[in-house]
Amino acid sequence: MSTIAWIGLGHMGAPMSANLVAAGHTVRGVDLNPNAAAAAASRGVAVVASIAEALQGADACITSLPMPQHVRGVYGGPDGIWANADTGTLLLDTSTVDIETSRWCHTESEDRGFVFVDSPISGGTAGAEAHTLTFMLGGRPEDVERAKEIVAPMAGSIIACGAATAGIAAKLVNNMMLFIGVMATAEGSQLAEQLGLDQRVFWEVANASSGGSWPQRVWWPVPDVVPTSAANKNFDATFSVDLARKDCGLAVAAGETTGVHLPAAQLALSQLEELAERGLGGKDCTLVTLFAAPDGALRGYDPSHDGVPAHH
Ligand code: NAD
Repeated sequence: MSTIAWIGLGHMGAPMSANLVAAGHTVRGVDLNPNAAAAAASRGVAVVASIAEALQGADACITSLPMPQHVRGVYGGPDGIWANADTGTLLLDTSTVDIETSRWCHTESEDRGFVFVDSPISGGTAGAEAHTLTFMLGGRPEDVERAKEIVAPMAGSIIACGAATAGIAAKLVNNMMLFIGVMATAEGSQLAEQLGLDQRVFWEVANASSGGSWPQRVWWPVPDVVPTSAANKNFDATFSVDLARKDCGLAVAAGETTGVHLPAAQLALSQLEELAERGLGGKDCTLVTLFAAPDGALRGYDPSHDGVPAHH
């Protein structure tokens, strides 16, 4: 059994690290937020006060942090990973970051004698709980093999995507496709509603037909059709607008770098940004359905419960 340092015990980090504990590993975790740390402790993670403590004798160190700047800070800071880890500790980042940040983690790790594998994930909090996440790994084949063993208790699929940063590149493309798909379900659900279709019946039609997709199956943005939809809970986040616009923004930026035209992704990003400007960054990303609803009134969404106006 291994000893694993875990940095960032949030929506994803808490259930993922708990699955490593359940598989018999010792996990020493750190989070700046005491509530997140306490929740992880109740699931068997040994919460410690510093990254240095978490790293003592660790076979691997796994980060699950919100934004690229947090990953850079946790790796490069004076109290961070490189300053405190042993070079034998395998370094894995499961956060969604830009390709440049992931490249920086690879090259700066290598310069210091460490092995780093980019290890982003897909499957959401439900996949994290059920240990069915997809891991997309990028790095040298022998390093990716080591990473596979560590992430196995959290994974439904583990895909070796290629050399350094191939995992994060695959993740950004996947999520760009997801948010374009969310727009399709947003518009489809509202047109079905206004054409008088029974939502459960139409969901079955799409599910068995060419309009089906992952967001259609899991996130259909109308109440009481699928249990995993945020529409059942006033669009409280399962995947927040803020994280979605980060992911979509990173994909759009990658399009600009590579000269690929991404009009649909740009539209998805502009809708997510509009929600954030309305103060709805903490709500679920499927709330883009508001833009399709006639008169901006959406079944399943009561803005008075958010304490912010639905319109400017
Ligand atoms: P989250 O905000 O719930 O968790 C991140 C945690 O990191 C927080 O608890 C925060 O307090 C902690 N943190 C921040 N800076 C820290 C520091 N310096 N030291 C220690 N802890 C620190 O976010 P999440 O939803 O768990 O997502 C984590 C990452 O996984 C993100 O990059 C996200 O894009 C990605 N991701 C999320 C999902 C999802 O469905 N939520 C799915 C796939 C990938």
